[in-house]
Amino acid sequence: MLNSSLPRRPRWRNLALLALCLAPLLWPLQHLAERYYRSELVGQNRQTLDLYVANLLGTLHRFETLPQILGDLPALRAALAAPADPQVQGSANRLLNEIARQTGAEVMYLMDDSGKTLAASNWDKPDSFVGRNFAFRPYYSDAIAGRLGRFFGLGTTSAKRGYFFAAGVREGERIKGVLVVKVDLDHTETLWGKTPEQLLLTDHNGVVILTSRPEWRFRATRSLTAEDHQAIAAVQPYPTQDPQPLNLNANAWLTQTRTIEETGWQVSILAPRALIDRPVRTVVAVGGATLLVVMLLVGLMMQSRRNYLDRIAFEARARHDLENRVVERTSDLEGLNKRLKSEVLEREQAQQELVQAQDELVQAGKLSALGTMSASISHELNQPLAAIRSYADNAGILLDHGRLDDARGNLKLISELTERMASIIAHLRAFARRDRHALESVALQPALDDALALLGKRRRAMAVELIRDLPDAPLWVQAGETRLRQVLGNLLANALDALTEKANPRCLWLSAEQTAEGVELCIRDNGPGFTSQALARAREPFFTTKTRTQGLGLGLAICDTLMRALGGEMLLANHPRGGALLTLRLRAGTPGVNLQPPEDPTA
Ligand code: ADP
Repeated sequence: MLNSSLPRRPRWRNLALLALCLAPLLWPLQHLAERYYRSELVGQNRQTLDLYVANLLGTLHRFETLPQILGDLPALRAALAAPADPQVQGSANRLLNEIARQTGAEVMYLMDDSGKTLAASNWDKPDSFVGRNFAFRPYYSDAIAGRLGRFFGLGTTSAKRGYFFAAGVREGERIKGVLVVKVDLDHTETLWGKTPEQLLLTDHNGVVILTSRPEWRFRATRSLTAEDHQAIAAVQPYPTQDPQPLNLNANAWLTQTRTIEETGWQVSILAPRALIDRPVRTVVAVGGATLLVVMLLVGLMMQSRRNYLDRIAFEARARHDLENRVVERTSDLEGLNKRLKSEVLEREQAQQELVQAQDELVQAGKLSALGTMSASISHELNQPLAAIRSYADNAGILLDHGRLDDARGNLKLISELTERMASIIAHLRAFARRDRHALESVALQPALDDALALLGKRRRAMAVELIRDLPDAPLWVQAGETRLRQVLGNLLANALDALTEKANPRCLWLSAEQTAEGVELCIRDNGPGFTSQALARAREPFFTTKTRTQGLGLGLAICDTLMRALGGEMLLANHPRGGALLTLRLRAGTPGVNLQPPEDPTA
């Protein structure tokens, strides 16, 4: 194939290069996807965070004003006024217990101005606060100072995390005691479900106080100073006085934070980055696959385009080749045409030369024929002349013997012979001119008899036995009577010539028959037959095996020409049993009808 000879560019390498160039497109895709999923996650987490913060604040706000309101209750004021009266204390205890139960606060208790607990909602529990002093707690000092006390801390006896609100119980300008409400915070932590996002609530020290991950609890998110440590030791808000640092991998988490001003807390929601990475990876994979599909499609398009271009190029080359071949063939043909033209010219020239040569040959032939003609005439006329001489000699003898009638008969025969001689001369002339006479229907047997009669004397002198095998009914042939007699005479004379060379018995066979094609006449002798050379050349004019005086070599040549002129043919052969066999084939004539007037022997 032509294509295979072309250098093929490695198209898949090109595609790979293209893919490499397009691969950076995946980066913005990743970036976009990341932004999208991040904003989705951030939006969701913001809501979660807002809800949590709102819930926490709601819980705290519910109890924020409670200490102040409770401080106005007479039963509690009475307890402050009479700390030693067990009845008053008992009713205060029951009241606090009842209110705590109703509000859901973990503990409520009343302290005197020294920080000693006079009454508490858990007065009847084993871990009762009654009689205990909490003056070390900052909320106490805040409340004594006339401010609202706020404090996060672990219950000293319960070890539960709680938020403490404290307010002073006033009597006029004096603060006579402090009322404290502790809110349970443990349950706000348990509200956080088992989600991948984590909760992290740190206090003003940066120590984790509420979290969904227990192992993070009471760990410091920032490094603590010596003062921080002192403060922690003083108020003991955590189970440990030396919180361990919390080492979070900032890259692994997506953090959102809210600050709660009134408590100084920071609430954070930590979402694992994997939550974004997973869908982003999916998007990038889908993008990559799309890119791959696009590349494949582009590759296929390039392939089909290349095939198309190859095909066009191939067809163009094929067309070009074809045109070249046509041009070559055309120039070949033109060359051939030129050669043919020159050959035609040469042929024409050769033809002209040939015609010229033929003309010259004909001219030469005419000259030689002129010589031949005279010889031929004498040859043809010698026989009747000899017969006339013989008849004339005989007539003289007959006159000597007074046999006038016989002599007259001879003279009549002589007259007939001269007529025949004239006819022969005319025919020789016709032969020389190639004249053609119209054919007539001639009966074969009478013509044969005539010819035999001319040679009758010689035949008898040679004692030649004549064996005839001719049908009685005349065989009609198409011929000219004179020409037929001339042929027969020649052939019979040749047979007698041949028989002279042979001793007796000498035989001459004559047979004729009607055939499908016409009439066939056979003349056979038992002489020496044709020599092989004579058999091949006997028809040629002037071919003779006889001495120059005896033969001219014209007899068979004339016979052959005449036979052909009659539309027949003459066959020369030797009989298997020796001797020559001449066969004349003549066309059949119409029986008993002379289609044309008899040939004019003088014509
Ligand atoms: P010519 O008789 O003058 O030789 P022809 O043309 O008649 O010329 O004959 C040519 C030759 O054919 C003769 O010389 C002879 O050799 C041969 N030929 C013809 N007739 C016979 C025959 N009947 N038998 C043998 N040879 C013959």
